Amino acid sequence: TEIDFKALTAHAKENGFIYQSSEIYDGLAAAYDYGPNGVLLKNNLKEYWWRSMVQLNDNIVGIDASIFMHPKTWKASGHVDAFNDPLIDNKDSKKRFRADVLIEEHMDKIEGKINKEIAKAKKRFGDDFDEAQFRATNPNVQRYLTEHDAIAKRLATAMTEGNMAELKQIIEDLGISEPDTGSKNWTEVRQFNLMFSTQLGNIAGEEGKLYLRPETAQGIFVNFTNVQKTTRQKLPFGIAQIGKAFRNEIVARQFIFRMREFEQMEMQFFIQPGTQQEWYEKWKEARLKWHLALHPQSKLRFHDHDNLAHYADAAVDIQFEFPFGFKELEGIHSRTDFDLGAHQELSGKKLQYFDPETKESYVPYVVETSIGADRLFLATLTHALRDEQVPGQDDPNNTRTVLSLHPALAPIKAAIMPLKRNDERLVNMARDIFNDLRFRFEVQYDDTGSIGKLYRRQDAVGTPFCITVDFDSLEDNTVTVRDRDTLQQVRVKIDELAGMIGPKVDM
Ligand code: ATP
Repeated sequence: TEIDFKALTAHAKENGFIYQSSEIYDGLAAAYDYGPNGVLLKNNLKEYWWRSMVQLNDNIVGIDASIFMHPKTWKASGHVDAFNDPLIDNKDSKKRFRADVLIEEHMDKIEGKINKEIAKAKKRFGDDFDEAQFRATNPNVQRYLTEHDAIAKRLATAMTEGNMAELKQIIEDLGISEPDTGSKNWTEVRQFNLMFSTQLGNIAGEEGKLYLRPETAQGIFVNFTNVQKTTRQKLPFGIAQIGKAFRNEIVARQFIFRMREFEQMEMQFFIQPGTQQEWYEKWKEARLKWHLALHPQSKLRFHDHDNLAHYADAAVDIQFEFPFGFKELEGIHSRTDFDLGAHQELSGKKLQYFDPETKESYVPYVVETSIGADRLFLATLTHALRDEQVPGQDDPNNTRTVLSLHPALAPIKAAIMPLKRNDERLVNMARDIFNDLRFRFEVQYDDTGSIGKLYRRQDAVGTPFCITVDFDSLEDNTVTVRDRDTLQQVRVKIDELAGMIGPKVDM
């Protein structure tokens, strides 16, 4: 069984995956640090993305742009004027909320009610239950669906029009109260810009105002000509980047799902105008396929955007079923020539492509794929962490916590342990194996407990192989290799270890 969210965050901390930032000062809200196992897992996830995007595509190249950019960048991109969230304060508690999130949470509750009705009916009808039929005909479900639809429509319109008064009205009509105190005493809704700003050293006032980038994409757009010229790419081609982004999120909750400092993995694919629909569909499919290599189909779904961002002509989310419901993991956006066009206009520099076939120059269109590395990390933990009955044992009470990561993603590929830590010969042999294998992949030497305890510890961080050196090893140069998932143990010659484990843990 999958582990609940609270247990998951505790597990992540206790096993060196994620700590709260500045914990000794009681933490900083919505900032987290990756621990020794966390950084290894995150690096592997980033590597998996980079390889499939850059290494395996002839026509995608990578860059690493600076976080600070000329302030005009954010004027052109629309972020200064339009990167806002609707904010509402509760007058009693003085706590701040995102108006649209409050409304969406209300909609989640309605979905919860629908699911309850379905669960009840499933119990009643057993195998004969037809869910689609039930959804379409049950009067209670129908009532909930109508209510849900009506709210969704009002929310989408208000968001698209930036109608703050209507958002307030919806919150009042639905009788939404503050989650903690139940108070319904709200202020007006106002727009709140999500960019963090800071000051350039030698220029005073507004002139010197710098922003921390709220997305990595703009570093790619402003470098379009540089990259195209230096790599001599022909359209269509893409530029990929992994890097930090910063947003002054109002509601920053749910662990690393929504942070104020996070990491994005973005790819901007430059195409001929008019081909955006085709490429949008292609990337939708390609990205879903990529996720299916990591997560089961049942955990993933597409979610079309009801209200489009200022730059997009089509947008879809790939949602993952997190412990708190289906939420956005990746976005695929058809951004037209909005960004390149705006930068061309404001900078006065040409951001065009000369098409050698048609002999025409034009500003390319863009389809982008954008995924949060931290959200991918959370999705991966959610799916991999489970409590289970120990394989091969009859007693259902004999359970273990295991992180069943794909071996290529596991932070540590193999742990090497001597059967007895006070036997110098076993320790030396185990250390020799460790010192040999560490050149090949990530390994750990551990002799700080009984073998059983060490096995459990490695299960908890997802180590696919445990190598134990025992007294027979001294005689015949073989060791026991224990498989994390099946718990099967095999004897392997020491000089065959790298050849046996390597291919299984390579990406
Ligand atoms: P949301 O609606 O959840 O705020 P968004 O639609 O603003 O997300 P995008 O601007 O499309 O997100 O960003 C692309 C990706 O970056 C998202 O799919 C998500 O994985 C990641 N991301 C965005 N904001 C955050 C955040 N505050 N913390 C962690 N990851 C984030």
